[in-house]
Amino acid sequence: MKTLIQNDLVRNFVAGEWQEGDDNASIKVEDPATGEIITYCALASDETLERALKGARQCFENGDLKNLSPLAKATLLRRVAFEIRKIADEGAELLCRESGKALDDAKSEFIEAADYFDYYSGIADKIEGKSIPLGPGYVDYTILEPYGISAQIVPWNFPVSLAARGLAPALAAGNSVIIKSPELDPLGIAALGIALERAGAPKGSVSILNGIGSDLGAKLVASKDIDQIVFTGSVPTGQAILKSAANEVVPALMELGGKSAGIVYADADIEEVLESVKWGIFFNAGQVCSALSRLLVCQERYDEVLQRCVELAEGLSVGHGLKNSSLTPVISEAQLCKIEAKIARASADGAIIATGGKRLQRDGHFMAPTILCNVAPESRIAQEEIFGPVLCVIPFKDNEEAIQIANNTEFGLVAGVFTKDLSIAHKSASALKAGQVFVNEWYAGGILTPFGGVGKSGFGREKGVEAFYNYVRTKNIAIKL
Ligand code: NAD
Repeated sequence: MKTLIQNDLVRNFVAGEWQEGDDNASIKVEDPATGEIITYCALASDETLERALKGARQCFENGDLKNLSPLAKATLLRRVAFEIRKIADEGAELLCRESGKALDDAKSEFIEAADYFDYYSGIADKIEGKSIPLGPGYVDYTILEPYGISAQIVPWNFPVSLAARGLAPALAAGNSVIIKSPELDPLGIAALGIALERAGAPKGSVSILNGIGSDLGAKLVASKDIDQIVFTGSVPTGQAILKSAANEVVPALMELGGKSAGIVYADADIEEVLESVKWGIFFNAGQVCSALSRLLVCQERYDEVLQRCVELAEGLSVGHGLKNSSLTPVISEAQLCKIEAKIARASADGAIIATGGKRLQRDGHFMAPTILCNVAPESRIAQEEIFGPVLCVIPFKDNEEAIQIANNTEFGLVAGVFTKDLSIAHKSASALKAGQVFVNEWYAGGILTPFGGVGKSGFGREKGVEAFYNYVRTKNIAIKL
């Protein structure tokens, strides 16, 4: 990927051109497993943003993407999928080194990104309106139109797949998209620019800009020239963006954080529970919005499950993502300090550290896999998102209390139930306050199933067919004959 890093600098993809920022500003991109600098990233300036906005608007008004025949648009998306798969190995190595995640997981992100393009290519030629009978003398029909410019802000935990999650349906609908990449790991997303370029995406249909959230990100979402905001990230940033959206009355899609609970009922298969704990809280070092961060266990199995969770945590292989270790570093020193501080406060509040609790003494930003018990459900550690490999194990006495504890946070992204009893599974799934419920397997589902939150976890749905309708709006045409 020669075009991606030149003179040790990752550039911006601005309306079809690879450009440095205009004022020579750059930030370093670090390997979280070693602390070494991998490369530098050219920051987009105000002028760069203006050019991206102008290119996006021109592409939209010219109809370069929007007016492609439905079949041609579908074909373009499939070509993007093909090109992403071609760069998946090389891209995965960059993503692994900049984010710290395991190489196999980084490769899966590129494959998932390609899958999003294949999936939404299937909708690009089936964007159909309705005919509404109004009685004799009238004809009425609806058409689904793209918004215009979709401004998309992406977080650092799954930058490549989350960028594709918003980009593919937005393009399928005919929007132009400007992505603000996460400042901590912008390389993988930049690689997507290469795939889009090679696939022949119309100039201006996609720009990928590097910048600091509070600067470039804030300017992008406050622009008078955008027509939609798609945000994935933390609650405070989402709240700030919603204020910008309110100023210009721009629709916004919010995919925010979580503090998700899995409920282990007495009849649960403990091996299934442990497999879910392994992926649910230790995958990507727990930096997952839908992480299994609270495990609620019925009293009769509490000691057994707690013990097994501790053994699991202590048995994880730790190391560089390139070695596909089970526990990889967290993204930055700042993130590591935040996690440690939250655990110290939890300890002071009475939580007991069953294992872990502090950073590992080695290079890079490694947090020990941590299991906390004696956690009061209403304490801050059980209420706030930690975004690290930290699990709170909390007992409950009956099903009613389990649901009450699970629902008692300001979030509602996902929830889980472990039981062999289908009746309990259905009743719990219906009572849980969450956008999606997993039964007997954390993260069951995938790009085909709608994903999003309730409460402070956000609103709107990504993934699946349903998500596509976030990227179009309905126009009704009523005709008196
Ligand atoms: P963050 O909110 O700090 O940053 C997210 C993105 O917003 C980054 O690109 C950042 O540069 C940008 N940003 C920051 N301030 C901004 C501003 N004022 N205006 C515009 N953009 C701004 O979040 P993070 O730390 O990168 O990501 C972790 C958070 O994201 C967690 O809370 C996690 O739960 C959430 N998340 C949610 C989902 C989901 O689908 N629900 C998926 C992944 C992550």
